[in-house]
Amino acid sequence: MVKQSRVSLQPGPVNASATSGADAPSQARSKTDETKKFPVFDGHDDFLFRLLKAPETRETMWLNGDGTGHLDLPRMRAGGFAGGFFALFSPSEDYAGFTDAMDNPSYELPLPTASKLGPSQESVLAMVGHLFWMERVSRGAFTVCRSAREVRAAMAADSIAAIMHMEGAEAIDPNLDALYAFHKMGLRSVGPVWSRPNAFGHGVPFAFPASPDIGPGLTDAGKALVKACNELKIIVDLSHLNEKGFDDVASISDAPLVATHSNAHAVTPLSRNLTDRQLAKIRETKGMVGLNFVSVFLRPDGKRSPDITFEPVLRHLDHLIDKLGEDHVGFGSDFDGATKMPDPIRDVTGLPRIIDALRDHGYSEELIAKLAHENWIRLLERAFGE
Ligand code: ZN
Repeated sequence: MVKQSRVSLQPGPVNASATSGADAPSQARSKTDETKKFPVFDGHDDFLFRLLKAPETRETMWLNGDGTGHLDLPRMRAGGFAGGFFALFSPSEDYAGFTDAMDNPSYELPLPTASKLGPSQESVLAMVGHLFWMERVSRGAFTVCRSAREVRAAMAADSIAAIMHMEGAEAIDPNLDALYAFHKMGLRSVGPVWSRPNAFGHGVPFAFPASPDIGPGLTDAGKALVKACNELKIIVDLSHLNEKGFDDVASISDAPLVATHSNAHAVTPLSRNLTDRQLAKIRETKGMVGLNFVSVFLRPDGKRSPDITFEPVLRHLDHLIDKLGEDHVGFGSDFDGATKMPDPIRDVTGLPRIIDALRDHGYSEELIAKLAHENWIRLLERAFGE
């Protein structure tokens, strides 16, 4: 459906100052126009997890940017990042370093143990606090949104629009009382599991090459969680569920099926990616898939390595659009959640280079606008019942 890629394979400048300093004035102007024309609404980032790990440096990290990680306020603005899902995540004790085997596929990573309710609530409440702190200190440049209307209004006012998302529901008790409390705080999206078991279900282990059909489906508490999310119009994120859990959500939920940061299994047979059968189910519900930018999700050989061009990015997008249609695909960067982001993207300032690659690949301006933000915002309208 599209012509062969002829994109530049060279990485561009890696930060905002390099971009503005290196370009001639006319090029700088056109890049600014570009980020205004195609602002990006993103399905998944883990910036709050960075703040959780080093809260004492949060002011430098957020407001000024310390050059680490993939996101901060100045780089988001330079890259045309207009909003997205900000994840609350409670790390397991055995979390650190367990993904190193991804450098040498094939692999089958063990499932970390879930963190307990008390420590999880402590971590997640701290992250909710960081999110509202970000809003408070940004003087209008960052807004926590509770509806699609609020997202549109924030974007129109040139304020980054954040949706509060929970990645793994360990901070929610099996009676779901905390779900209602978090909803009042602004929670609008929940992934019942991260890639580990908990009271609600069984996350899919990271394995390559492997089917997502690993382990049992949702528990009774998990099924009740899905129903409660439907009642509250909270999005249920499928991205870390195994296939049986995915099918359970598909059969229970009355909402559009959403995978915020997963790619095409047909291109990269990673257990975290979506099979054509799963994509067909998402399409049936007018759901949504956000393209994950991380190398293990993109590279056909499953290797965690930043040495990668835009070619696999375009292959995944072509496949997702083929299976889901043009209205149900967007981005789900995984910025600050995963290491070894592809060299041509590097961090959030790489977003305009992705837009350039899409145009060079033959995508129309209309399709690029859908992928960049329009599809996500329409999905929010459908999911929130607006
Ligand atoms: Zn994730």
